[in-house]
Amino acid sequence: MNLTERDNKVTWHPFRQLKNAPPLISVEKGKGVYLYDAKGNRYLDAFSSWWVKLHGHANEVIARKIYEQCQRLEQAAFSSCTHEPAVELAERLLKHLPGFSRIFYSDNGSTSVEVALKMAMQYHHNKGKKVKRIIAFENGYHGDTFGAMSVAERNVFNLPFSPFLFRVKLIPAPVKGKEGKSLQMLKKLLNGEPAIFIYEPLVQGAGGMVMYEPAILNRMIGECKKNNCITIADEVMTGFGRTGKFIASDYLKAKADIICLSKGITGGFMPLGVTACTANIYNAYMSADKSKTFYHGHSYTANPLACAAANASLTLLESKHTQERILAISVFFERMKKQFQGHPALMDCRSLGTIMALEIRTKESTSYLNPLSEKTAAFFLRRGILVRPLGNVLYFIPPYCITEAELKHIAAVTKELLDEMVNGLKNKRTVKPPTTHRKK
Ligand SMILES: *Cc1c(COP(=O)(O)O)cnc(C)c1O
Repeated sequence: MNLTERDNKVTWHPFRQLKNAPPLISVEKGKGVYLYDAKGNRYLDAFSSWWVKLHGHANEVIARKIYEQCQRLEQAAFSSCTHEPAVELAERLLKHLPGFSRIFYSDNGSTSVEVALKMAMQYHHNKGKKVKRIIAFENGYHGDTFGAMSVAERNVFNLPFSPFLFRVKLIPAPVKGKEGKSLQMLKKLLNGEPAIFIYEPLVQGAGGMVMYEPAILNRMIGECKKNNCITIADEVMTGFGRTGKFIASDYLKAKADIICLSKGITGGFMPLGVTACTANIYNAYMSADKSKTFYHGHSYTANPLACAAANASLTLLESKHTQERILAISVFFERMKKQFQGHPALMDCRSLGTIMALEIRTKESTSYLNPLSEKTAAFFLRRGILVRPLGNVLYFIPPYCITEAELKHIAAVTKELLDEMVNGLKNKRTVKPPTTHRKK
């Protein structure tokens, strides 16, 4: 039995239909932007393995720091202990998050959101108030745990659980043309009563890399500030340089009260979540009254290995070289956007920083279930590129170590796909064999 056959008998994969799913890729190793299968085929990881690989696979600097940390301290209960990697990481993160005062650790993006929601709810509670309203954007995604599902659009991801999710007021995301409506609806919901507003700043990731402008979000956060509404910026996808700045909120003047970080935080080596909050939030818990304690924690809270990986990843991210690469990718995608804008196979084409999204024209619904996702993924895979489209939205979010030549290859395959879609079968060209598919 080969690996996928053995896998087929014993595991259950996330987000995977049990019938008719495309075959799994049996990955043997990774290096830089590439993953390698047992036959030596290599695949350019153009979605950074679900948006986590900032510096590519098997980065030696991060690997070494984890190994060194393993030999010193691998785990200690953060409820009773503290340790250098966690404190160092908090100090360094707060330097990047002016206005924030505390770092709360958890294990992943969903838990960072759970922590944020609970932190905001109990903030009001500790002040003797009841939360009247939780507000979120339509088409948002914040993770797969119950709180995170509750603040998302009700859709195919969470339909079976919808009777058990808490109630949330959804307003349209302020995309082009909807800014006014979105702001009006928010204003109507805010009346000074305790509230919470959670949003993905500037880019709705899983919702299809939907983008909107900083100016309108500034105004919305401003309204929340005036109305006793705690704001939560879910930067799980947008953090650590993805949008061209350290976090997407850096494009804004108005600051959130709470920020969620995860995904790229450890360079994609270890699971880790962070919820950062302001002194105002923290101080609501400062009490000798035990009932005002934040009773939330996970077995592996602030795991030293994860924190060591995050410190190493942060050092790489802060380096001049990485910052230059982020800029170069941003410039490339900006050009690529111009190149493809108006292409007859596209409904829209957008980019921000190291994120590039192309919305392919379709007659079917534009949801996650659109079958174009499998077709597009297969087209790219045959050319040695790993993508994971969101329905009819093809996107790239590559590791920062990707080269200009590799970006050009992605753009060339994109062009080939889109042109082929327009020309259809009538004008089928012979496809030249992929140059990056075969290793050595
Ligand atoms: C991926 C994601 C999450 C959930 O993170 P997990 O680590 O997968 O639990 C939450 N919010 C946003 C914006 C995300 O993109």
